Amino acid sequence: MNKKYLLPNSTIGIIGGGQLGRMMALAAKAMGYRIVVLDPMVDSPAGQVSDEQIVANYDDRSALKELAVHADVVTYEFENVDYDALAAIENLVVIPQGTELLSITQDRILEKAYLESCNINIAPYAVVVDKEDILEQIKSIGYPAVLKTARGGYDGKGQFVLNDESDIESALPLLRYGSCVLEAFIPFEKEISVIVARNNSGQIETFPVSENVHHHNILHTSVVPAGIDADTDEEAHVIATKLAEYLKLEGVLAVEMFVTRSGALYVNELAPRPHNSGHYTIEACSISQFTQHIRAIAGLPLLKPELLKPAVMINILGQHVKGVNEAMGDYSRWFVHYYGKKEVKENRKMGHITVLTNNTDAVLEDISETQIWD
Ligand code: AMP
Repeated sequence: MNKKYLLPNSTIGIIGGGQLGRMMALAAKAMGYRIVVLDPMVDSPAGQVSDEQIVANYDDRSALKELAVHADVVTYEFENVDYDALAAIENLVVIPQGTELLSITQDRILEKAYLESCNINIAPYAVVVDKEDILEQIKSIGYPAVLKTARGGYDGKGQFVLNDESDIESALPLLRYGSCVLEAFIPFEKEISVIVARNNSGQIETFPVSENVHHHNILHTSVVPAGIDADTDEEAHVIATKLAEYLKLEGVLAVEMFVTRSGALYVNELAPRPHNSGHYTIEACSISQFTQHIRAIAGLPLLKPELLKPAVMINILGQHVKGVNEAMGDYSRWFVHYYGKKEVKENRKMGHITVLTNNTDAVLEDISETQIWD
């Protein structure tokens, strides 16, 4: 980038052609940028709305080099990008999100150590490599506990809840994937997340806190504003802002947290990119998380996100597609998004619905009455 900011008609390279890449690309296209996407699938969700597609694996070095040559700026839509392969093109193209943030967020052990070093509250944990470690560490962590693989887990994959000693045997296969984290189960009252954005001038903006409900570890609904008190809300924003500062973030970061009954906050996970729990921002905020991400990586000033109206976001997984398609004609307030995925599979994120409303409880009731998500 010769200019301080990326000019229209410049090209943004996106690693990953899923729905996050697609919504990033749509936001970037609205601003006049060109998009080249790298994904192993032809006609991927992002590929469908991009100017060019490079069809190759994420760790294919010659393909990444081609992306670097075609693009003025490179971004990624998920954190499991091959670190070494990305580092290898860092001298060829601007990668505003950098590679350090990637290495921290793709390894739970590094992520937890980093959060601790920032004095951010997290669940008590230990790194374990075998059964003996688990038996030793569980003495201080106690039951219930959660065993999580250090790398490669998402949407609850690669984790196992240990309610008592009899569960340990069934959890052991996780150790085949390498070191694991054993952490205390937090009896949370709510799960929330904050999306924070920072640009290369150091400007930071946070989005309203969303309250998230997961089904089988996959995000089910996000409701905004979250049902938390003003102090907890303020603290969630402070944590996200602090992390953006410490990490010298360029782009957006999602910070997932647990809230206990007493209002204590525990950071569970970071995602260095737009996040499913921020999809509500497309319709409900003065700027979407995707536009903000593009502005941040383009070096443009950030907009202050304002909540225009309370919102409910609900995910459409493979098993919900038929029901949603049959019902959507009856719900004039549903903003229905589909990601252009051709193959419908159980638990695959196919789209989402956002509803703007002054009564989020009533919308949740309407949604439940459809029985689509039972
Ligand atoms: P994660 O992959 O770490 O985001 O975990 C997926 C989901 O599992 C979270 O959104 C929580 O609902 C649940 N979970 C993970 N870790 C814990 C924990 N330490 N205590 C309670 N619930 C957890």
